[in-house]
Amino acid sequence: MINIPKGTKDVVPSESYKWHFIEDKARQIAKEFCMREIRTPVFEHTELFLRGVGDTTDIVNKEMYTFNDKGGRSITLKPEGTAGVARAFIENGLGENPQPTKMYYITPVFRYERPQAGRLREHHQFGVEIYGSASPQADAEVILIARAMLNKVGIKDDMLSLNINSIGCPKCRADYNRALKEYFSARIDGMCSTCRERLDKNPLRILDCKEEGCRKIAADAPVILDYLCDDCKNHHEQLCSALEAAGVKYTINPHIVRGLDYYTRTVFEFISTAIGAQGTVCGGGRYDGLVQEVGGKPTPAAGFGMGIERLLMVMQNTGIVIPEPAGPDVYLAPLCEQGYAVSLAMAERLRAKGFAVEREISGRSLKAQMKYAAKTGAKKVVFIGEDEIAKGIYTVKNMADGTSSAMTEEELTEALYE
Ligand code: ATP
Ligand code: MG
Repeated sequence: MINIPKGTKDVVPSESYKWHFIEDKARQIAKEFCMREIRTPVFEHTELFLRGVGDTTDIVNKEMYTFNDKGGRSITLKPEGTAGVARAFIENGLGENPQPTKMYYITPVFRYERPQAGRLREHHQFGVEIYGSASPQADAEVILIARAMLNKVGIKDDMLSLNINSIGCPKCRADYNRALKEYFSARIDGMCSTCRERLDKNPLRILDCKEEGCRKIAADAPVILDYLCDDCKNHHEQLCSALEAAGVKYTINPHIVRGLDYYTRTVFEFISTAIGAQGTVCGGGRYDGLVQEVGGKPTPAAGFGMGIERLLMVMQNTGIVIPEPAGPDVYLAPLCEQGYAVSLAMAERLRAKGFAVEREISGRSLKAQMKYAAKTGAKKVVFIGEDEIAKGIYTVKNMADGTSSAMTEEELTEALYE
């Protein structure tokens, strides 16, 4: 027996309707907010993520699925959705179109993490990308999209908290980095070895460390909001007013910095208290430097990634029930050899009219067929025996109330429309 790789999951037929539910809602949201879908490859040149995600991040340093293909190129399975979209934006000249460009994706994401509840090695994200607007209105729009999606699947505002922060721009972050270095250097003894390395390369990363010791030290670190330049401060304040105008409740949390290097100014997270440690269902923000970083013209951008598995966990833990798909409209039960040919032709005619039709294809006894039809939730069962075929009149059992009636195929069709 060959097992599924650690940290991955099958979506079996009896569960896939839950995924369709989420995907349908995502596409509805996309329509309401006028976004079109973008699909990019599951793998990219490794270089894209080194430059896009950043080579001091956990994702790049520890979590990427990287391998050489048979042509000797270094290839990486996407560890997040944004870098590929930025590359596609440049490569397809999407910046030439009227701006902004509003896109969404639904994609698998691969990260070599320690698997646990809500933390997988292959997970899926619904993501949104808005390119070409530097205005805080775009940040607000991105947050509104995320909230609308969470609400649409049934997660109410009072089950969520929205944390926002600004991590400034390269200009004001230089001052802040200096302050962080000074603060952490004095407390280096209590920090993990990774953070000691981060101190030189990217002290901001220390704020995102999950180690207990580092978190305690980070709690009293200088906060970026005190170091923002005037432009970044204005941007942040305008975003806050836009959120207030839209009635979106938020908390300013100076400790969120996000796990990717490409963020500038706004960063945000939607957190649900329903699933404990892995409660972040959505993370996003602004990344004005990304498009240029991966080889395009300077292009302001904002977006988010939402974990679909975590969304499903939150929904399950808060008692949100996803409606199960209906059973077959009709089940055709042949009672004789000829019944198979007749049921086949009838099934094709009814399917052509759009009905969901099951017919016996296993050659079981009538009793076994009835048991199966009941299990599938079929609404009606049609018996097709020699007598019925000769007369062109079939016994039709209504499974809801157990009553039977005799019908021609035409009458059956009428009854199915009811
Ligand atoms: P976390 O802090 O939980 O590790 P992250 O900051 O790494 O999250 P992002 O890179 O922003 O997460 O990804 C966006 C969303 O994707 C997360 O908010 C989360 O819902 C989901 N997600 C991230 N990593 C995983 C994973 N390994 N398994 C399942 N879902 C994940
Ligand atoms: Mg992570």
